[in-house]
Amino acid sequence: MTSRALVLFSGGQDSTVALAWALERFDAVETVGFDYGQRHRVELECRTGIRAALPSLSPLYAQRLGADHRVDLAALGAISETALTRDTEIAFAETGLPTTFVPGRNLIFLTFAAALAYRRGAKHIVLGVCETDYSGYPDCRDDTIKAMQVALGLGLDRRLVLHTPLMWRDKAQTFALARALGGEALLDLVVEQSHSCYLGDRSTRHPWGYGCGGCPACELRAKGYAAYLIAPDDSGPSHDS
Ligand code: ZN
Repeated sequence: MTSRALVLFSGGQDSTVALAWALERFDAVETVGFDYGQRHRVELECRTGIRAALPSLSPLYAQRLGADHRVDLAALGAISETALTRDTEIAFAETGLPTTFVPGRNLIFLTFAAALAYRRGAKHIVLGVCETDYSGYPDCRDDTIKAMQVALGLGLDRRLVLHTPLMWRDKAQTFALARALGGEALLDLVVEQSHSCYLGDRSTRHPWGYGCGGCPACELRAKGYAAYLIAPDDSGPSHDS
């Protein structure tokens, strides 16, 4: 039986590696991206370039990569007063969470993704969330994702499996995983075309890719890439999810 997966693909480093991971495992892989008025909207353009480049890396990828879906979630941006959707400073709020936190974002993304997966006949949903060196977003936690798997499966009355291949990997191990999956070509694609910078800055090319170099997302990516160069073969836990 054909195994079908839907990947939450933002155009960022993590979801690009998660997409490659899915292409290695499932027979048919579709992608979904959400437009919620994010400041770093340039990531939506990056997704197009990454999807266009992936088939040239491997005949398997070319065969398996299917349709892309873009979902307009302007309503989420409209109700969110955050540094990702407003022109406010990126900092840490009194809650201890960075002001880039969009409350409930992954819960909403997953609910839409599940509805789409249901319609497309995909049992597997893959997302690049990570609890290891994340910014403290509660909706990236392993328990949150597991609870969502149960809730969505019950609510749709269909077995859905949520895969989080990066959950226990840090950024350095995610770079290493890219190389382990698709060699230098995939690593180059991740560095060159995936987008992390919260400010949407793609004017300066650093060794780790494009970005302002100063926002928390850039700092995490830069630090991860430097650590990757020291231990390029450590792609993290052998279990995948
Ligand atoms: Zn930045």
